Amino acid sequence: MPIRRVDEIELKGKRVFIRVDFNVPQDEKGEITDDTRIVQSLPTIRFAMEAGGKVLLASHLGRPKGKRDPKFSLAPVAERLSRLIGKKVGLAPDCIGDDVQRRIEGMREGEVLLLENLRFHPEEEKNDENFSKALAPLCDVYINDAFGAVHRAHASTEGMTRYVKTAAAGFLMIKEVESLERALVSPERPYVAILGGAKVSDKIGVIENLLSRVTTLLVGGGMAYTFLKARGIDVGKSLVENDQIGFSLDLLRRAEGKVKFLLPSDHVAAERMDVQARREVVRNEKIPSDWVCLDIGPETIKLFSEEIRSARTIVWNGPLGVFEMEPFSQGTFAIAKAIASSSAFSIVGGGDSVAAVNKAGVAEKISHISTGGGASLEFLEGKRLPGIEALKKKDEEMRG
Ligand code: AMP
Repeated sequence: MPIRRVDEIELKGKRVFIRVDFNVPQDEKGEITDDTRIVQSLPTIRFAMEAGGKVLLASHLGRPKGKRDPKFSLAPVAERLSRLIGKKVGLAPDCIGDDVQRRIEGMREGEVLLLENLRFHPEEEKNDENFSKALAPLCDVYINDAFGAVHRAHASTEGMTRYVKTAAAGFLMIKEVESLERALVSPERPYVAILGGAKVSDKIGVIENLLSRVTTLLVGGGMAYTFLKARGIDVGKSLVENDQIGFSLDLLRRAEGKVKFLLPSDHVAAERMDVQARREVVRNEKIPSDWVCLDIGPETIKLFSEEIRSARTIVWNGPLGVFEMEPFSQGTFAIAKAIASSSAFSIVGGGDSVAAVNKAGVAEKISHISTGGGASLEFLEGKRLPGIEALKKKDEEMRG
């Protein structure tokens, strides 16, 4: 990968700005409910500390809409991070400005300072040039380890790289890019992609791109019903995007003779979307016209699992049913387990699929769990991601 790595840069005594993705889920009281994203950033943070850098961490958290809002303060993250690295992490009052500058001037080698939420400034998401110019002089070295934000051209992920001398990727970023590249550029075959989730419209780009790469495409979840309807099946009250039927039919035709494009053949249907509702396993031709299909059925689980078993490369994004409700979660968990028992190189991305893999207790059997749902999909679409492009450009510049 033509991107400079953090371990190729001299960090001793340098002010090292690391763009991390600390956008962690919190409960109503502000307690962090899942610290995976913090944990995943630790290798780069520890490396920078041990190399003698003065470590500045910057992230967004939630959607404060460009205003300072204590609800979106990174204070709970500073606390959790302190515990995880066993060393006090200070929290700066802001991410730019004289106060922050002074705090940085007083830092010692190996010390860590977390800057306050980047999105307290509307200029961050606007990729504002002046904001980028205010961030850049805070540091000597810029490191991007926020894979989850790499598909966004924001000041901290893209803009400020133009005004720093040295830029490189952190270990998490490198791991993400190398794993996804393996599926994008040189996948071992058979290559099986499993797509689920609510809508076809969200995944148009990735489906189109995967059609020219995969051996088999397995589609489940809400999005399957638009495809089934396009095939002339009466799907009752199941989720259908009527404006995507033409496109879905076109995709099915394009796949003919090239890609094995499999849709569910049976379903867990219910009178309505409710755990208490009457439900039944039905085959495609027997879907009651006033019921909704909320999960793939046992025959589909078997069919999909067989494809998964013979795969050498697997990519999965999106749940195969309304897995948040126990009666409709079997399909998603069964697929998570099937992927875990396969010996293929497997990538799981997207918050729901990652949650399912964790809940099924099979996370360690997955080759790569992507921290960026949106970013990993865009990567697999073959799109150029602004944060990665910025690092590549910088690397070229640094080579002269
Ligand atoms: P996405 O964000 O597009 O990956 O979609 C995830 C959502 O899709 C989850 O909240 C699931 O509950 C939902 N979903 C999965 N299968 C179905 C289905 N058959 N009908 C309606 N929603 C579904």
